[in-house]
Amino acid sequence: MRRLLIAGNWKMHKSVDESVELAGILKSSLIDIVELDILICPTYTALHPVANILKGSNIALGAQNMHQEDSGAFTGEISADMLISAGASHVILGHSERRHVFGETDQTISLKLKKALDKGLTPVFCIGELLEERESGKMDQVLIRQLSSAYEGLTKAQALKTIVAYEPVWAIGTGVTATPDQAQSAHAFVRNWFRKTFDVDLAERIRILYGGSVKPGNIADLEEKPDVDGGLIGGASLKADSFTQIIENAIKKEV
Ligand code: PEP
Repeated sequence: MRRLLIAGNWKMHKSVDESVELAGILKSSLIDIVELDILICPTYTALHPVANILKGSNIALGAQNMHQEDSGAFTGEISADMLISAGASHVILGHSERRHVFGETDQTISLKLKKALDKGLTPVFCIGELLEERESGKMDQVLIRQLSSAYEGLTKAQALKTIVAYEPVWAIGTGVTATPDQAQSAHAFVRNWFRKTFDVDLAERIRILYGGSVKPGNIADLEEKPDVDGGLIGGASLKADSFTQIIENAIKKEV
């Protein structure tokens, strides 16, 4: 039985003070939640103060990206060790904005994934197709390419430490959500890829989150699908009430 995970990606939003305030509200309003896992991913500058606020809570802390090298002349970048020293346990890698706005390649993302695993960070590895790729029937091909590049050379034990987020690019920040059936069909495809590439045991245990305009009103129908193991939430994670409501609605559907 896979445990649901609801993760918030705050992207480039909120000052340190605003991040600490939101984390504090979430800590107290979600303190009794035991039915699922919760993760929040603020900006780099807010990681350490938010880590301090989250001490003693049931909310894990993640970063939104990292560099693949340990240290060096990489102006503006941040390493896995730095994230860990700031209190992060997770890191989002390969988000569609990193791929399509900042030009990150499958190769770079694969190096980042391996580095994160070596350092003991849990990667939330994002995959997903563009609208034109879906419409031209290339979705499967794109997902296979992204998955193969990232998981090549990983052992089963390493792969099991990763979390996948299927995020169709056309659904991110657009208000257009994949229908529960569209999400289920992509998730089943991804799970089947893990079954063929590793084995049934891994495929049954790896968590596949859905991301793309998830809101309090659509989470329950998405979560009802057997291969959807939670959500990666952008816009709706920026307000305490909508993020909390998403978590509560996801739980209701579980019961
Ligand atoms: C995201 O940033 O991963 C995301 C899914 O954003 P949104 O929920 O705003 O579509």
